[in-house]
Amino acid sequence: MRLRQTRYLFTMTWQPPKLEDLRDRRLRYVRISVTDRCQFRCPYCRPEQGDTPCEPQADYLTAAELARVVKVLTTLGIRTVRFTGGEPLLRRDLTSIIQAVHAVGIDDMAITTNAALLTSTRAKNLAEAGLKRINISLDTLDPNRFKTLSGGAPIDPVLRGIEAVRDAGIKLKTNTVVVRGQNERELEQIANYVWSLGGIPRFIEVMPMGAGKDLNMVPAAEIMNSFELTPERPEALNQKGIGPADYWIHQGRKDQVLGVIAATTRNFCSSCNRIRITATGSVRPCLASACGTELRPLLRDPTTNDQDLIEAIYTALAIKPDGHRFSEGIAGELPMRSLGG
Ligand code: SAM
Ligand code: SF4
Repeated sequence: MRLRQTRYLFTMTWQPPKLEDLRDRRLRYVRISVTDRCQFRCPYCRPEQGDTPCEPQADYLTAAELARVVKVLTTLGIRTVRFTGGEPLLRRDLTSIIQAVHAVGIDDMAITTNAALLTSTRAKNLAEAGLKRINISLDTLDPNRFKTLSGGAPIDPVLRGIEAVRDAGIKLKTNTVVVRGQNERELEQIANYVWSLGGIPRFIEVMPMGAGKDLNMVPAAEIMNSFELTPERPEALNQKGIGPADYWIHQGRKDQVLGVIAATTRNFCSSCNRIRITATGSVRPCLASACGTELRPLLRDPTTNDQDLIEAIYTALAIKPDGHRFSEGIAGELPMRSLGG
């Protein structure tokens, strides 16, 4: 009897160890791609020539499968989920996905989107489902340039989407990938627009992933010269593990915060706290590498259990590379669209 009781107590209190890789990097953040499809053709991600084929849609994880994976991840210490793609708003069931993941105990949820399909009704529904933060890609404010950079899409629905985010009370950030000869003269104008809506603009060095390796990167130091900056949190700059974006204040004004992501020139891999899951359920421990493990066969096999999922996640972590080597000219193996950038 005592033995049985002890076993029972053990089962009740046992928790799987928190997610840590072989370099003691503690994982707290998962980026989940919900589709590898996109209607845009950003030159660094999905160019006209040389684009990679998409996965069959039947292989995309369903809302229920995603919720199960996230539930397992919460037992391993994951607290933040970002949905991305491809273009996540192409999934008509995105609101259901967010509801399902919220229901398993994740409060901090975000999406990264091009916002072309972000109507005010959809923004309100996403907020009601539990979405707290949205990052919107915005490489230019010039309507003609926008058409060229997106592969023919108009800018107006995107600008309406950005305003819908503000109106729905969701926190707004924008992502601008800065490419020489393309948009490096527009940075202040983009920042002023985003600040006028109460958002935070972020400027990103183009990474040599997919077609990004053929473009001309503008280094973070040069991006920062477009502004008069002081660190938002001076102490954060000297600490490890603050994440990829450094945040700054322009002209000493607290309502003019901006982020700079030196994705290529500054290697923040030693403090990487994230893993990625692709739309078809591959666990990808590193942005720059195609290595990983597969959850979909386990999720669709009724004889497997959550422990099998945990083992597959740990196996992926065991092969998490030290980091990228972009500054040595070694490109990422997959485009962001396939990985969930
Ligand atoms: N379609 C959505 C969007 O564009 O926001 C989400 C997916 S997209 C792959 C996520 C982010 O990756 C976008 O902000 C995009 O600008 C960025 N991105 C894609 N390829 C990149 C590259 N080669 N270098 C830097 N950023 C890149
Ligand atoms: Fe589509 Fe986003 Fe890639 Fe642009 S960056 S092509 S919007 S997935």
